[in-house]
Amino acid sequence: MPIRQLPNHLINQIAAGEVVERPASVVKELLENALDAGSTRIDIDIEQGGGKRIRIRDNGSGIPQDELALALSRHATSKIASLDDLEQVRSLGFRGEALPSIASVSRLILSSRHTDASQGWTLFGDGQEVFDAPTPVAHATGTTVDVVDLFFNTPARRKFLKTEKTEFGHIEDIVRRLALSRFDVGFELNHNQKNTLRLRSTDDRASAERRVAEICGSAFVEQSLYLDYEAAGLRLWGWVGLPTFSRSQADLQYFYVNSRNIRDKLISHAVKQAYQDVMYHGRHPAFVLFLELNPQLVDVNAHPTKQEVRFREGRLVHDFLFRTLHQALADIRPGDEAGAPT
Ligand code: ADP
Ligand code: MG
Repeated sequence: MPIRQLPNHLINQIAAGEVVERPASVVKELLENALDAGSTRIDIDIEQGGGKRIRIRDNGSGIPQDELALALSRHATSKIASLDDLEQVRSLGFRGEALPSIASVSRLILSSRHTDASQGWTLFGDGQEVFDAPTPVAHATGTTVDVVDLFFNTPARRKFLKTEKTEFGHIEDIVRRLALSRFDVGFELNHNQKNTLRLRSTDDRASAERRVAEICGSAFVEQSLYLDYEAAGLRLWGWVGLPTFSRSQADLQYFYVNSRNIRDKLISHAVKQAYQDVMYHGRHPAFVLFLELNPQLVDVNAHPTKQEVRFREGRLVHDFLFRTLHQALADIRPGDEAGAPT
């Protein structure tokens, strides 16, 4: 075959292979967009594990009529405009890939009303790249993305979907992770018309703690320590489980860097080390922790799903985490002389 340029919709479908693995990945991307738009309330409606429908409504800033089609085109974003912006990006998204990717593997309806607009507009996609002009729609300020028949035109992907229950389980996990990242935003999750999660927006620690209890269980909150520590431009706050609240699996571990939920070897290592003396081998600590630092010290463009980051001062972050946690754990064990970090 001669070399040829791939058509756009195929390029999008190939990119979709990276960011849209399953219904839960669609939910993640759409929730991130809703959060980036400054929403204070997000409603998520799922049908049949997300394979039939994923609909996310928010009350954020909305998208102007003349930008709706652009929102669905590749590498189009309102979040960065230069390398400089990328290096200090605070938004969850910046790649301009999610909507076009999702649109290329589903029937997508994008409806939105921008803050400054007197009405809403809607745009339909059928898995191809050409969209008809937007038509007027009744819509409050904010955006609704309705993703129907995910993977209908990519049968190989569709085949990989697990049972409704499993797929919805992954969706719940994503919603919980994101709900823990933003206590000031209300979330509601429904599956097949039935409510499964309702979290009101919170503005103080007590109500934040109720959300943590809702998501991680009240036993965790009762047997955890709240900490908030700042040094050298780094802040670590959140809840760490007491050593007595150990788990057989690493299933209650939530870590956020500048509000972005991430998995990171360096961080896992620092936490593990901090618990080393106080937890039996083979047991895992539970925690909900938030690290805040200058965005320029974190490279968030390390992976298409943005679940991994690179720290520019890895050693500094590792030691800060280790010392802070080690000290906090030492403080709850009076009489432990070996506990204090040097
Ligand atoms: P990215 O989030 O990386 O910018 P997306 O493909 O996810 O890329 O979205 C493209 C653009 O569409 C965003 O930059 C944003 O301007 C707009 N957009 C998407 N979802 C929403 C939303 N829920 N509210 C407001 N604007 C949105
Ligand atoms: Mg996005």
